[in-house]
Amino acid sequence: MSKALIFLGAPGSGKGTQAKLLQEKFDFIQISTGDLLRKEVSMGTSLGLKIKSVINSGKLVNNNLVEELLKVNVNEKQNYIFDGFPRSLEQAMFLENFLLSKNIKLLKVFYFEIDINYVIKRILDRKICAICKKEFNITLHKIKNDICPNCNKPSLLVRGDDNEFTIRNRIQVYLEETFPILDFYKKKNKDILIRINAMDAIDVVFQNISTNLSVILNEDKY
Ligand code: AMP
Repeated sequence: MSKALIFLGAPGSGKGTQAKLLQEKFDFIQISTGDLLRKEVSMGTSLGLKIKSVINSGKLVNNNLVEELLKVNVNEKQNYIFDGFPRSLEQAMFLENFLLSKNIKLLKVFYFEIDINYVIKRILDRKICAICKKEFNITLHKIKNDICPNCNKPSLLVRGDDNEFTIRNRIQVYLEETFPILDFYKKKNKDILIRINAMDAIDVVFQNISTNLSVILNEDKY
């Protein structure tokens, strides 16, 4: 039976960074609805243009569309880390039925706890390489002249929605629509939630999740 994890947390809490690292160590692949939507935008279709304007406003893209992306990209043969989905109670309920229909077992929900004031600086420091698509924190990685440490070219860009105005909207949407999902999962099963201190350094968070995940996978065998 395939397995799933959900990464829940504010924008900039490091869910994507950790999901990308974990898929190199564990037999899980990252499903980032944000990445899937940005891929659609990059194709320049009329749908992509509409998605772009919603993303840049900081609001949530239409449920049907995001759910359709999941249907196309998730199958019963892989284990998944859901990064950025669900983002509302409606999506959480959709995911319940969807996982059931695919015979995928939800193992845990990792909640990335972070001080909201801290995420604004973190997101404003974020740049993404147009070539390798890796993310870097310009302060942490001491980036100069937008040179990507991985590609060694001046290929680092700012995401269209990583500006202060949009970030504040994204945080508001998170607090109003996404944060209540925590209660939904707590009420369903009090053991499903694992709190992670997302203020820690990347390697510390990675170690923390890895240790938890190894235990969870071991317990799941029996
Ligand atoms: P992210 O890359 O997860 O920060 O997502 C960037 C943007 O994509 C969000 O601010 C939303 O506009 C959109 N988005 C990502 N995931 C979802 C989702 N599950 N439901 C609706 N919109 C989403």
